[in-house]
Amino acid sequence: LATQLQSQLRTVLEGLSTVAEAGQVVGHYTWLSQYAADAARPGQPAPRVLTSGITLRDVRFRYAGAERDTLSGIDLDLPAGSTVAIVGANGAGKSTLVKLLTGLYEPTGGQITVDGRPLDELDRAGWTAGLSGVYQDYARLQMRAGETVGVGDVRHIRDTARIRAALDLADATRIITDLPDGLDTRLGAAFGGVEPSLGQWQKLALARSLMRQVGGERRPLCVVLDEPTAALDPLAEHDLFRQYVGQVREATRQGAVTVLVSHRFSTVRMADRIVVLDDGRIAEQGGHAELMAVDGIYAQLYRLQEAAYR
Ligand code: ADP
Repeated sequence: LATQLQSQLRTVLEGLSTVAEAGQVVGHYTWLSQYAADAARPGQPAPRVLTSGITLRDVRFRYAGAERDTLSGIDLDLPAGSTVAIVGANGAGKSTLVKLLTGLYEPTGGQITVDGRPLDELDRAGWTAGLSGVYQDYARLQMRAGETVGVGDVRHIRDTARIRAALDLADATRIITDLPDGLDTRLGAAFGGVEPSLGQWQKLALARSLMRQVGGERRPLCVVLDEPTAALDPLAEHDLFRQYVGQVREATRQGAVTVLVSHRFSTVRMADRIVVLDDGRIAEQGGHAELMAVDGIYAQLYRLQEAAYR
C-alpha cells in the first residue's frame, strides 16, 4: 500500500510546475500516511450504508496532557438520514466532537457505536472511506481546477467524469464553466492563476470531499461540515448551506448522517436536530421549534443573532 500511495503522490507532484505547489500538496496530504496507518489496522468491515445511525453513550474526551476533560457525559443519537447541527461558544468542544466521530481521536471514556457496532472495532480505512466533509481548515489547493477536486481521490485524479459528478453534487459546476480553461485552469493568484472567491473555494473543497463517493462504489456514511463557510457573510452562508445540505441530503437521504457545525442560526435552524454544547457538555438538544419553546441558551442566542442582523 505504501508503494501504491507513493506512486499516486508522485503522479500528483509531476502534474505541478513549482516547488511551492508541490509543498502545498505534500503539506495538505499528510493524511495519505494516516490513510496507510488506518489500512494497517483491520477490524470488522464498516457498513455500506447506515441503517440505524451513530450513537454516543457517556462519551468523555481529554486531550493528552490536558488538565481537564474537553467533553464529558455526551449522550447523543445521530439517526441515519438526519442532519444534526452542533452549536456552542468557541472552545465548547464542537470540533473535538467532530474529530471523535471521524475516528481521528478515540474517546477516553464511554462509547461510540455505528449501527450498534463499536466504532473502535470497525475497519478504520473502511470507516474513513465513508466520511466526507469540509473542515475548518479546508485547503485552497493551488492546482488546476480539475486536480484540486480530483485529488480528493488520488486514484482517480484524472477521471474527468468522476470530477464532473463531484462538482455537480457540490453545486460547483458553474464555477468551472466560468473559468477560461475549464478544468485545466490554474487556480490561485499566488501562482498566476485565477483566484476563486472564498465561497467558490469552499464549494470546490466540498466537491473534493465527495470524490470518493461519486464513483458509485461508496456512498458517504457521515458527512461533516465544520464551519466551512465561517468567512462568508450570513446571507451567503445561508444560501450555501441550503444548497450543500440539500444536495448532500439528496445523495445520502438514507444511510448517512450529516453533522453541521455553525455559528449561524439561520443555517442551524435547517437541521433536524440541534445540539447545544456548553463547556464540553450537552446543555440542550432538540429541533428548532422545540428549543425555542424551551426558551434556554439556544433561544437566547437565536434571538440575539436575529436582532443583530435585523
Ligand atoms: P470548538 O470547536 O467548540 O471551538 P474545540 O473542540 O476546538 O472547540 O476545543 C475545545 C477545547 O479543547 C478548547 O478548550 C481547546 O483549547 C481544547 N483543545 C482543542 N484542541 C486541542 C489540542 N489539540 N490539545 C489540547 N487541547 C485542545
